[in-house]
Amino acid sequence: MNFVLHGAPVSAGITIGYAHLVSSARLEAAHYEIAEDAVPAEIARFDAAIGRTKQELAALAAHVPQGAPAELGAFLDLHRMMLEDSSLSHRPRELIAERRCNAEWALVMQMEKLVEQFEALDDAYIGERKADIQQVVERVLKALMGAPAAPGPALSAEEKLIVVAHDLSPADMILFKRHQFGGFVTDVGGVTSHTAILARSLDIPAIVGLHHARHLIREGETLIVDGAQGVLVVDPDPIVRAQYQRRQAAHEERRRELKRLKTTPAATRDGTPVELFANIELPQDIEEVREAGAEGIGLFRTEFLFLNRKDLPSEDEQFEAYREVARAMEGKPVVLRTLDIGADKAIEGDGLAMPNPALGLRAIRYCLAEPLLFLAQLRAILRASHHGRVRILLPMVAHAHEVDQSLAMVKQAKEQLDDKGVPYDRKIEVGGMVEIPAAALALPMFMRRLDFLSLGTNDLIQYTLAIDRTDDAVAHLYDPLHPAVLHLVAHTIQAATRGGVPVAVCGEMAGDPQLTRLLLGFGLRNFSMHPAQLLSVKDRVLRTELAVTQPLAQRVLRQSDPAKTRELLAKLNA
Ligand code: PEP
Ligand code: MG
Repeated sequence: MNFVLHGAPVSAGITIGYAHLVSSARLEAAHYEIAEDAVPAEIARFDAAIGRTKQELAALAAHVPQGAPAELGAFLDLHRMMLEDSSLSHRPRELIAERRCNAEWALVMQMEKLVEQFEALDDAYIGERKADIQQVVERVLKALMGAPAAPGPALSAEEKLIVVAHDLSPADMILFKRHQFGGFVTDVGGVTSHTAILARSLDIPAIVGLHHARHLIREGETLIVDGAQGVLVVDPDPIVRAQYQRRQAAHEERRRELKRLKTTPAATRDGTPVELFANIELPQDIEEVREAGAEGIGLFRTEFLFLNRKDLPSEDEQFEAYREVARAMEGKPVVLRTLDIGADKAIEGDGLAMPNPALGLRAIRYCLAEPLLFLAQLRAILRASHHGRVRILLPMVAHAHEVDQSLAMVKQAKEQLDDKGVPYDRKIEVGGMVEIPAAALALPMFMRRLDFLSLGTNDLIQYTLAIDRTDDAVAHLYDPLHPAVLHLVAHTIQAATRGGVPVAVCGEMAGDPQLTRLLLGFGLRNFSMHPAQLLSVKDRVLRTELAVTQPLAQRVLRQSDPAKTRELLAKLNA
């Protein structure tokens, strides 16, 4: 059936492909009885899913991405072994026959029994294996539900698999890096949730907040994802498909054109230089940073090294990852943000009990509460500073004492390295994120203590407007153009610039070409964004006349009527 769904656009471009349903499988497993004569077929379906999951794990183990935690391979092996065990591979077959239940139900029943047995044992190691069983079962459930993705006969070789999910966590998304998916669509999520940010970094069309896509779409169905408009066309007719193919070709042509700007220095028409830096999540992202011709890394979200694993990365492992990036950038600046864990990026097992994770023990608060972990990261960063131009960035600072305490810990980490004679950059700069309104409003307190500032507009908007950036129910209230947000952004840029403290924007606003001139007009000269967005922003910078932009940007700032703000922005971008 041909129909259209509307959601929030996350990452521009058009993909035509076929649906691959991905689920939080345990929650969605169907339970139903089957007829006696359907039992052999149901057992065969179960066996096939086990077989596919084994293949999937083997393929994952063979392609562990560079920079992924070393333990990832070991966990994949452990999961494979669990699948070999008859308690998972055989007992559900018996349950299907004995109880005449569908394969998903049999598997979930057996999983619950195993988990119960594990829980009864008072052994921490075994207790942890419980989570492994759940993860492995989830994989098999996904294989059961997402029947083999058979592309329809009309699909050509270039057409891609489009992930359709109710929700994806940032940890799930990071695993999708390097997989050749053509697009992502989810039922929930806000446009600046970390999941959406990662989809954007993959540079493939993506839509969030589609509400019922996961239920309405069938595996293998043809989809068109229009990531610029947030439109998802399900089972399109040939005329619609041809229209989108033309738009897709135009989009690709535009991307090819932009590539020519790679080595062009970023400056406005009147010759004012503008620094365009990149945001990354893992060392493997460096390749795209180079392809985009970024002048530095303005935000390395180091917490992604800590996700999808049971243990914490050691100081050495972190050091190697940071050094890899520092070296690869060959003397260009690399801003390493210290662990911003919590909220939607919880370390496994952590954060689940927090009543309000976005307002809880997140980022610098978490690190200061875990001084050993923080010190290990600071030492790893300092050691890497010997191999490139590294800076430290503290996330979510709101209080002077948080900065003071962090600086004291940097000093302590330096002393620990000195004791061992380990070299590091003695003049390493330490900056802070301005992403809590309190920090923007009490800026001198931070300017006095820090070497540079970076505006995290994603959180600044979330906390200024009191809306959860991951919740699509309030996504329509997430507005970078809200006068309160613009005031905080402009004030921070202007006050820091006046005070001689370098300031950047590393939130998603920096990567939106529609906002480039506005930010330039506020005085911003350093933008950090995902590499995929960099050339579009550069194109906008190159076509900007500051003499025209500045007064218009100031008028936007004085404006309190949202309709007029948008009118002025259109004028600014004309
Ligand atoms: C931000 O909040 O704008 C930011 C850059 O950090 P993150 O998106 O990782 O919270
Ligand atoms: Mg943030």
